[in-house]
Amino acid sequence: MESSEPSDVESLPRGGFRCRLCHVTVANKPSLDDHLRGKKHQRLENLRTVRQTQESRSVFVSGFRKGTPASELSDYFQAYGEVANVVMDKDKGVYAIVELQNEEVLEKVLAEPQHSLGGQRLRVKPREKKDFKYNPPRKQGSAKREQLSPEKLAENLCQADDVDAQMSLMVQLFEFSESERRLRDLLVTLFQEVFLEFFPGSAILPFGSSVNGFDVCGCDLDLFLDLEKTQSFQASAKAPNMTQEGASPEVDTRSEDSILSDIDLASATVPEVLELIATVLRKCVPGVHNVQAVLNARRPVVKFCHKESGLRGDISINNRLALCNTRFLQLCTEADERVRPLVYVVRYWAKQQALAGNPFGGGPLLNNYALTLLVLFFLQTRSPPVLPTVSQLKELSNEEEQTTVDGWDCSFPKDSAQLNPSANKENLCSLLAEFFHVFEDYDFAGCVISLREGQQLPLSSFLSSEADNKLKLGPFNLQDPFELSHNVSANVNEKTALRFQRCCRDAAKYCRSLQYQRKSTKGKIWGLVRLFQPGNPEALATDGFIVNLPLTLAAVPPQSCELLNQAGDMRQLWFQKICTGIAFTLRDVLRCSCLETAQGFEEEQAATRSQQQEEQIEAKMKLLSAGSKRPLENDEGEGVLSPSAKKSRIDTFLPTGESMTWDCSTLHRVWLGRRRVRRQLRGTDLDLTEKAGSLELEAKVSELISKQEGETTPTEPLLQFTVCARVTEAASGKQGTCVRLSFTPVPEQAAAFQEFFHFLQGFLPRMVEQYLVTRA
Ligand code: ATP
Ligand code: MG
Repeated sequence: MESSEPSDVESLPRGGFRCRLCHVTVANKPSLDDHLRGKKHQRLENLRTVRQTQESRSVFVSGFRKGTPASELSDYFQAYGEVANVVMDKDKGVYAIVELQNEEVLEKVLAEPQHSLGGQRLRVKPREKKDFKYNPPRKQGSAKREQLSPEKLAENLCQADDVDAQMSLMVQLFEFSESERRLRDLLVTLFQEVFLEFFPGSAILPFGSSVNGFDVCGCDLDLFLDLEKTQSFQASAKAPNMTQEGASPEVDTRSEDSILSDIDLASATVPEVLELIATVLRKCVPGVHNVQAVLNARRPVVKFCHKESGLRGDISINNRLALCNTRFLQLCTEADERVRPLVYVVRYWAKQQALAGNPFGGGPLLNNYALTLLVLFFLQTRSPPVLPTVSQLKELSNEEEQTTVDGWDCSFPKDSAQLNPSANKENLCSLLAEFFHVFEDYDFAGCVISLREGQQLPLSSFLSSEADNKLKLGPFNLQDPFELSHNVSANVNEKTALRFQRCCRDAAKYCRSLQYQRKSTKGKIWGLVRLFQPGNPEALATDGFIVNLPLTLAAVPPQSCELLNQAGDMRQLWFQKICTGIAFTLRDVLRCSCLETAQGFEEEQAATRSQQQEEQIEAKMKLLSAGSKRPLENDEGEGVLSPSAKKSRIDTFLPTGESMTWDCSTLHRVWLGRRRVRRQLRGTDLDLTEKAGSLELEAKVSELISKQEGETTPTEPLLQFTVCARVTEAASGKQGTCVRLSFTPVPEQAAAFQEFFHFLQGFLPRMVEQYLVTRA
């Protein structure tokens, strides 16, 4: 009988054990012994031995022509001895694992300096030795868990006995199912296998919510590709006179056909390495598609999607601090069992209120990492504290655990058993109410939240020129626990910060009611359910998604406003022109699809105005424009965008009344990284330098962003929304009339729409004005 490897068993804090081989947790030593003698463990041990033996007599083969059948490879290697099996990479057919009968045959194969098949030179290497990982076969359809609808969630929650039970239930309902966890493990193993072949010595390490204890079914898979060893292997292989000490004997980074012969990892830029990774993913990882290097993010990544499960993920290469903060979050979840339910509930609440989430890795919302830190900070500041501060954790760490990552102190204990249990006895129901209470009046802009110290710090300590932890201050200041110069919520704008406070206030008020605290005996909704109801859509539309365009826009002098207000016809023509400008900006400048809805807008009706009427109105308009203080500087620049788009032709549907609606969608994130692309374009085209801020330049910027985002046009729109423009009277004391634009995203995209809207608020009025000045 096989004996278990000692590394299979891991001791858990409260006397329990976990068998790493079988993913089984048991409560005590006798149960562990039972498990180790049991069928499952024995079967997996046998399987491990078989796999390891297979591995030790297999070679990794690449370089053959695509589509080469397994039988041809088998025939070829038969010349050296018996071939036991050939496993082709199913998806792309670019590599194969050839298992030979025994190690003698393997040695013969490896002794051959050059292999070729069908005129192609083959690359033949021994297989990398990997740890055996048990991944039981996935049951059909079990990887994708049905998304829980808000109705089903409410139904489940209402059945719980109290708020504490509701909060624990949230974790059970949202955390990964066994099959989802397995799918992720499987994918990580697959990536590891492929990357090891192309980047010898590399390691692929998951971080973020897949492993930090805040897993939510369907969340993205964040991966870090550690190339440090590969780089040193490459360096030692390149040094001509150096002995190969420390380098893996199997690593051949110099051979012509090694992917590493194309790149010097020590001097390559991050974009170059990421492009290479993207190529490996595209060509060699089965089941992966939509691979795309995103280079303009704070942390550049390669994005991918797993075809069968729809799982999305990122690979980054310079994100060691994230591995560290992932371990820290995990430690916090292990330190106190109230951490997970509280974070799950706050995250869900914030998502429903469109305050937080990771829509596209940007925008003015708090991201899930920042929101989680806020909850942890809250727990550090309870009296007595639920969690220790990061400084206290450092004190508790032993010598081995003292580490510095990218110059920042990341020392904290590995094991939660080193921490003292908290003396705080508050229940979940009251902790949640207190969370809202603490932040309803919090001065986010006036201080810096520090998890290292477990207290708020004055802004002054970050302003002095000597401060080595200078961080970007803004309306919401939340210092990263390790990278002390990083404000993790630097992206949050004032509006979101204020809304966060307002929503906390509403929630705190609700938490004081009996409806929150007690289960309804009459079958009404109670507890968390009311809290999770999305923010009133009306309220979102009135304070969130409105842009006002004054009718004085472009070339209408203020003194003529009164005239505009009186002259109904002219007012309508002006409205039409603004509508054309809006449609033009959305469609031609931002590349959105943008369809006028039929309701109330008929081309024929617009056309029924007599030629004479049109001319009269045009004449009045000219008169008004002549009085404008704003120069019509680009007037001669007609057709700046395309010769076909000539001046003053209102060739779309026109409003006949004083409102107009469009159904819109966007395929690309044209609002992200515009400044960078603008710089790029200006650098390459002198003509464009002169046209700074012009419709032409902006259209080119959108075009380039769309191109950079993906070679293939996505079929699913990123965002869908309607825009309704309406002539309204401005508030008293302001100029007479304006066009009120209200944007309504499809309900489930309210949060994701925020960042696009934030961009449109500034961009749209500028562009419509440009349009009116230069083209209307
Ligand atoms: P989810 O994907 O479920 O929204 P997440 O925690 O995985 O949650 P991501 O945005 O995917 O969030 O980020 C992955 C990880 O990257 C985080 O868990 C954190 O470790 C790190 N990270 C994200 N944003 C920041 C940031 N602003 N500063 C520092 N580290 C960050
Ligand atoms: Mg993530």
